[in-house]
Amino acid sequence: MTQGTITVDTSSPVLVTGATGYVAGWIVKGLLEAGATVHAAVRDPGNAAKVAHLTKIADQSDGTLKLFAADLLQEGSYAEAMQGCEIVFHTASPFTARVDDPQKELVDPALNGTRNVLDQASATESVRRVVLTSSVVSIYTDAVECADAPGGQLTEAVWNTSASLEYQPYSLSKTLAEKAAWEIADAQDQWKLVVINPALVIGPSLQKSPTSESFHLVQMLASGAMKSGAPRYGMGVVDVRDVAQAHLAAAYLEEAEGRHIVSAQSADFFEMAEALRPRFGKDYALPTRVAPKWLVWLLGPSMDMPRKMVSRNVNVRWKADNSKSKRALGMTYRPMRESLEDMMDKMISDGAFAAK
Ligand code: NAP
Repeated sequence: MTQGTITVDTSSPVLVTGATGYVAGWIVKGLLEAGATVHAAVRDPGNAAKVAHLTKIADQSDGTLKLFAADLLQEGSYAEAMQGCEIVFHTASPFTARVDDPQKELVDPALNGTRNVLDQASATESVRRVVLTSSVVSIYTDAVECADAPGGQLTEAVWNTSASLEYQPYSLSKTLAEKAAWEIADAQDQWKLVVINPALVIGPSLQKSPTSESFHLVQMLASGAMKSGAPRYGMGVVDVRDVAQAHLAAAYLEEAEGRHIVSAQSADFFEMAEALRPRFGKDYALPTRVAPKWLVWLLGPSMDMPRKMVSRNVNVRWKADNSKSKRALGMTYRPMRESLEDMMDKMISDGAFAAK
């Protein structure tokens, strides 16, 4: 059956790792609505609150949902869930900026988890394709790197060489995980690897209490934390529903290959606030002015933003080439305003923040 413009093969089950996640939820929804049998690997299938949105979608669709317990850090953990699957969507990976031990909390689950899932793919005869949710942060760490890239913008040919355990460890975790994925993929010929590299994902969640860092950032914007001014921190943004569509295209378009920058546009916090103001400015404490770079530099460390991050990202335009995603995956992108408005509507109905 088709999902958007993509024909989903429903003849064998598909595995989605980290199925409780923000991005994964929309992938699972697309697959279930196309009539697929989805093997949803989650850490705790017994946690009804975390899987409720998935079971509800399954009840209302032609597809079938089967929950499996699996952990990135346990070797062999995905064997049962992968049994009989031709397609594996590997989305599971921690996405948070606030960690005490970056090696243990970010790098180990991202890197060892990717090895665990992809080694399992090689050991499971039915697997023909693995779609990996990587990130644009496996391409770059700081927005200043865009101008230095060949042609003045990030492309799929660029790799992150500047993240470390001490500086932007989440970016390091995604870079090491994607590199390991290509090494494992290149060492065998049973399955093909296709990689999606999304920019900052925005848009409505399907679950009630999302843990993704995306929500923390929008919460900071609309809860008054940036009331005195929003930094022009350069980044790319993309709607979660478009990211899910890119994953389906990567899985089911025969000729899909390689990495794909999946980003709708370049943005910064002030532009995001401006996009939200017409509908939400009256009731929510959105920033009304730009925070000058010197002020962000001064206050940055008290807001989890090291000075190096300020000097290399604030007032710097993020630039990336998304043309491969349009050409090879048929992507069209929702405008940022629509994504942010739908995200705010959902967060408000979930009680994520109070009006001013
Ligand atoms: P999320 O909602 O926090 O999802 C992360 C998922 O990873 C959760 O389902 C979580 O499962 C799972 N996970 C974490 N540690 C695990 C472990 N040890 N074993 C098994 N599962 C584990 O975040 P998200 O934003 O949807 O992120 C999904 C993917 O997209 C990640 O690979 C992330 O790097 C990538 N990405 C996200 C963005 C963005 O802006 N959001 C941008 C680019 C790429 P539990 O429910 O059990 O905790």
